[in-house]
Amino acid sequence: GIRNHSTAAVLEEPISPGVSVNYTQLMINGKFVDAASGKTFPTLDPRTGEVIAHVAEGDAEDVNRAVSAARKAFDEGPWPKMTAYERSMVLLRFADLLEKHNDEIATLETWDNGKPFEQAAKIELPMIARLFRYYAGWADKIHGLTVPADGPYHIQTLHEPIGVAGQIIPWNFPLLMFAWKIGPALACGNTVVLKTAEQTPLSALYATKLLHEAGLPEGVVNVISGFGPTAGAALARHMDVDKLAFTGSTETGKVILELAAKSNLKPVTLELGGKSPFIVCEDADVDQAVELAHFALFFNQGQCCCSGSRTYVHESVYDEFLEKAKARALKRIVGDPFKKGIEQGPQIDNKQFEKILKYIRSGIESGATLETGGERLGSKGYYIQPTVFSNVKEDMVIAQDEIFGPVQSILKFKDLDEVIQRANNTRYGLAAGVFTKNIDTANTLTRALRAGTVWVNCFDVFDAGIPFGGYKMSGIGREKGEYGLKNYLQVKAVVTPLKNAAWL
Ligand code: NAD
Repeated sequence: GIRNHSTAAVLEEPISPGVSVNYTQLMINGKFVDAASGKTFPTLDPRTGEVIAHVAEGDAEDVNRAVSAARKAFDEGPWPKMTAYERSMVLLRFADLLEKHNDEIATLETWDNGKPFEQAAKIELPMIARLFRYYAGWADKIHGLTVPADGPYHIQTLHEPIGVAGQIIPWNFPLLMFAWKIGPALACGNTVVLKTAEQTPLSALYATKLLHEAGLPEGVVNVISGFGPTAGAALARHMDVDKLAFTGSTETGKVILELAAKSNLKPVTLELGGKSPFIVCEDADVDQAVELAHFALFFNQGQCCCSGSRTYVHESVYDEFLEKAKARALKRIVGDPFKKGIEQGPQIDNKQFEKILKYIRSGIESGATLETGGERLGSKGYYIQPTVFSNVKEDMVIAQDEIFGPVQSILKFKDLDEVIQRANNTRYGLAAGVFTKNIDTANTLTRALRAGTVWVNCFDVFDAGIPFGGYKMSGIGREKGEYGLKNYLQVKAVVTPLKNAAWL
């Protein structure tokens, strides 16, 4: 039964996206410009591996130009000095423009990334517009404190923008990551140089055009398309960047932290990888648990830092769960992400595609049982069959490493103490899922799991107000919500004698 996945959908001619790519240059100081070197690189369609467009390839020199523009916009420009209300109005107008151009941006996102169009258009884009409205709401509610003094002093704290923020984002949620990064930075009055992932440069360039249409002054948001070791590293070690935020792999996170430490000690927030447990308890409604565990792993082609990639199932429901999880994976609709009703598109690129297939081989070799899937789908593009492994053990590589693909690993457990210990036995700590009707079990697990987010009877809920980030090697700091503002603020203490200072 392993070859049951229908390949029909991926064998058809790719659907034409029906939009043109208008913005392929770097955004520096409010203008689209070529890279200083004149170089470009191709961005590819994951459905076919064919070129969508050639995009300006920024490197260290372009990062210098962008940081100078951001520096000037911060030091001299109107942005940090205008009223918070005026800043919030820019963000609100931007959210309106995102809605107006929803389908066009979602089309670029699907074309460049391979995610289902309906997911981009109906879930991600609306979530992004909401996030900007959320942070627009914060802009004029950011303020310091008055602090009680030991003597005749007036003591206050000012919460000031930190300056020029450098931001480096990944390819799995290109525009959502752009939003998580620039939303709080702009609300606080900072200026930004953001480097997109080389796989997915298109949607951020389009959105940045809209930001300027919404009234953003020049130089406040600069966007560099380009590669990590050149453009990304130049940003991370730049002496004039006051703060750095990164989302991506743990490996690259370490490089970023080192570059920041060796240059100007800029503070760094990191949102890195994960190997999140999803725990199905003995009282669970199995059908619901199967559906949620399936979503927790397979959403976005399995390319989520928080994906529930270790499915722990209580032994009393294990057999039934396994049969149903396998049946659900077999029913998953894979195909051209522009087609209606498609649940899963291609993986982002050939590198990830090969890496995932290698992990699948490793799972088989290490003795896990391949229940379904395990192979590529079709003959072009980067489609992979929804894959389920059972009999997975913690010491297997597939239970330890982030696979970042449509590969579910199912593990059996006996009691709560045991599953807590096993779930926490990982270098990561980004998220966890708990599925139970028992309030005591839910409380026990939410307190015991060492993860930045615990979803109980739900998964992947990403409201703008919910802080997100990792324990352990999943990262440093929190994004979104009120917590996300702290990354972009400096605290200044101001002390003034009440009157007639003693030494005068
Ligand atoms: P990556 O971490 O290398 O890339 C993320 C971003 O960092 C990109 O913009 C990239 O250009 C940049 N970058 C890479 N090297 C850099 C350097 N030396 N200095 C500065 N910036 C640099 O991730 P990847 O290679 O695209 O994917 C590899 C793995 O990372 C995936 O298989 C997955 O496990 C993980 N990943 C995690 C997330 C997440 O959301 N946490 C996102 C993407 C990938």
